[in-house]
Amino acid sequence: MNSNTTKQPSKFRRFLRNNAALLLLIFCVLAIAAVVLAVTLTRDNNSVIPDNPVTGNPDDNKPNVKPDDDKPSTPTTEKIDIHFASPLDYTKVGLDFTFGPDHLFVYKQTLNEYSSHKAVDLHAAEGTEVKSMYDGTVIESKLSYLDGYYVVIDHGDNVIATYASLSDVQVNVGDTVKQGDVLGYVSTTARCEFKEGPHLHLEVTADGKKVDPMPYVKGEVYRTVEVEVKK
Ligand SMILES: [Zn+2]
Repeated sequence: MNSNTTKQPSKFRRFLRNNAALLLLIFCVLAIAAVVLAVTLTRDNNSVIPDNPVTGNPDDNKPNVKPDDDKPSTPTTEKIDIHFASPLDYTKVGLDFTFGPDHLFVYKQTLNEYSSHKAVDLHAAEGTEVKSMYDGTVIESKLSYLDGYYVVIDHGDNVIATYASLSDVQVNVGDTVKQGDVLGYVSTTARCEFKEGPHLHLEVTADGKKVDPMPYVKGEVYRTVEVEVKK
């Protein structure tokens, strides 16, 4: 028994000694396999990041990368209604629009006569701001004996508005105006209507014909426009 127990370790040692080369070889093979496996895994993980720039051409790189960032802020269009707005805070409507077969002439105090009035007179205190009813371009800005200082604005879509009987005109021909921009101030510069008191004499021409300005003043006329909306 004793000899057996003492011989066993020596047998094992002998086995180790005899097969050391083999064991070392197996160990080396395993070690190399482990290193290769580790390198392969690492390369696979890293390849996820370089893949994107590599797959796309230099020109495509930015569009390829950007969409992920842009997705939340991709501009989308939305249709909105933009209404014409009153050009001033008026206290009352004086002379109405009287033009066309259904309209009678109105009495004009200053001229002491009955005649058509292809405009509306919007009364307000002298000096009240007169603003553009809609975006547009100033196509005329003059002083006339009858209408006083007046500004003509092309509001697009064949709609042209004349803002007359102003003082201190704030815009020049060629200017681009936004809705709400101040054009001038209410006054009595229109000689043909000065007895009616300070007011804005407003004319609107649509598709070449004089039309009642009140639907514009009241904001009943609007345009549906497409605007970019960033979400
Ligand atoms: Zn008038």
